[in-house]
Amino acid sequence: MAMKAPAASELELSPDRFRELVVIALEQLTAHLASVPDQPLDGTAEDPAASAAVARSLREPLPEHGADPRALLADLVGRVVPHSFTTVSPGFMAYVPGGGLPHAAVADLVADIVNRYVTVWRAAPGLAQIEATVARWLCDIVGYPAGALGVLTTGGSLANLSAIIAARRARLGDEDFRDTVIYLSDQTHHSVAKAAVQVGFAPRQIRDLATDERFQLRPETLERAVREDRRAGRRPLLVVASAGSTNTGAVDDLAGLADVTAAEDLWLHVDAAYGGFFLLTARGRALMRGIERADSVTLDPHKGMFLPYGTGAVLAREGAALRRAFGGSAIYMPEGGRDAEAVDASDISPELSRDFRGLRLWLPLKMHGAGPFRRQLDEKLDLARWAADALRHVPGIELVAEPQLSTLAFRLVRPGLDEAGRTRLNRAVLERINARQRLLLSPTMLGDRFVIRICIVSFRTHADRVAEAVAIVRDAVRESAP
Ligand SMILES: *Cc1c(COP(=O)(O)O)cnc(C)c1O
Repeated sequence: MAMKAPAASELELSPDRFRELVVIALEQLTAHLASVPDQPLDGTAEDPAASAAVARSLREPLPEHGADPRALLADLVGRVVPHSFTTVSPGFMAYVPGGGLPHAAVADLVADIVNRYVTVWRAAPGLAQIEATVARWLCDIVGYPAGALGVLTTGGSLANLSAIIAARRARLGDEDFRDTVIYLSDQTHHSVAKAAVQVGFAPRQIRDLATDERFQLRPETLERAVREDRRAGRRPLLVVASAGSTNTGAVDDLAGLADVTAAEDLWLHVDAAYGGFFLLTARGRALMRGIERADSVTLDPHKGMFLPYGTGAVLAREGAALRRAFGGSAIYMPEGGRDAEAVDASDISPELSRDFRGLRLWLPLKMHGAGPFRRQLDEKLDLARWAADALRHVPGIELVAEPQLSTLAFRLVRPGLDEAGRTRLNRAVLERINARQRLLLSPTMLGDRFVIRICIVSFRTHADRVAEAVAIVRDAVRESAP
C-alpha cells in the first residue's frame, strides 16, 4: 500500500515565504516600536470591559484551517497588545521594569531558526560555549572565582528555586531536612518562600526576619535567630539576602551577613534579581560589597540588562554545587566527551531541551560592549536620586524609602489622618497619577504603611520622563488637597 503524502511543503516555508512572513512582522513591529513613547501606560484602564471582551474573543477552539498571517499579526499587535500595561514605555516605573531590548528579539529569531541543541556540548559545542561564556560574564560581574558556574533560567523565580535546591543538596545530600531552617527577611521577594515550599520545606521552617528602618536585614538579627533555632535543636541551613529588594530596592549588609553565614556555616544566597546589574557601576559595587562571598546569586537580565521577559540566571560560587544538584545523564543522550573545560547546561540546571537564551545576552553585549549598560545603570541611579530630591520638597510628601539603588517609596501624609485614612488618600493619589497615562507607578505595603513606589530601570527612561513624572506627582498631590 502506498503511503499518501500530505501536500508538499504544507508546513515548510519556502525562503520567499519565510522572508515575507518576517517582513510582515517587521512592518507591524517597527510601527509599534515608533509609537512606544506615546502609548498609554495602562491600556486596560480606559475601558476594562473592552479589555475583558478582547480577552474573551480569544477563547477559541483549535482551528482546522489556516488564516492569513498579515491579518493575524495585525489583529494581535493592533487590537490585543494595546489592552495591557505598556511595560516597554519610558514612563513604566511600576514593579521592576527593564524595557526589552529589541536586539534580543533578533537573537531569538536567529536562535529559533538554527534551532540547535545548546544544553549538551556534544550537540553544538560553539553554541553551548556561548551559553557558558555568557554565564561566565555574569560570574565576573559578581566577582566570582574561576570555579564558579552559572546557568540561564527563565527568570528570577526559577533562579531562586534552583539556588535553594543547590543549597539543600550541597549541605544535606539526600538527608532528611525537616529540622532545617531557612532565613528570609520581611522584604524578601515572595518567590523565595514559594520556592522553598516547592522544594518541600514546611512554612514552619521558614523565618521572616524583621528588617531595620532602611528595610535591611541586620547581621545581628540573623545571628540571634540562628542561635535561637540551634538552642531549640533545629538546623539552620540557608539565608537569603536581598541585593535590591522589590519594595524599596534595599540592599542588605552583604558583607556583614557573609560574616555570620561563614561563622555559622550556613549557605548564603543573594537574590540580586533587581539589583545585581548595578554591580557594573561603582556605586552599585560599593553598596553590594560582599556579594562575591555568597554561595549563590540570582540575577535577572530581563531587569537590569534590559532584556525582554524570559531571561534570569542562577550562579554558584562553587560550580560543583550546581552539578551535584542537577547533574545526570542517560543512555539515549548524545555520546562522546566534551572539552575538559566545557559545561553542559543540562548538567547544572533542571532543564534539558530549551531555547538558546544565551544569545539574547550575547548579541547586545557583543554589539555594544558593557560600557553602554554601565552608563545606563549609572543614569538610573542618578535619576532616582534626582526624583527623591524633587519629591522631598513637595509639601505633604514623606519619603518613606530613600533610593539605595533606583527605587524609592513615598506617600502623602496629612495631619489628623489615621493609617486607614492615609491608605485611602494615597490610593486616590496613585489613581490620579496613573490616570494621566504618561506614567505607571505601583503601590506596596511597608509594614502597615501604604506607599507608592517609583522604580526606574528601563533603558528608555531618561531625565525628561522622570521630570514629567515628578510634575505629575506634584499635580496629583495638589489635586488631592482637602
Ligand atoms: C523580580 C524579582 C524576582 C522574581 O523574578 P522573576 O524574574 O519575576 O521570576 C525575585 N526577586 C527579586 C528581588 C525580584 O526583583
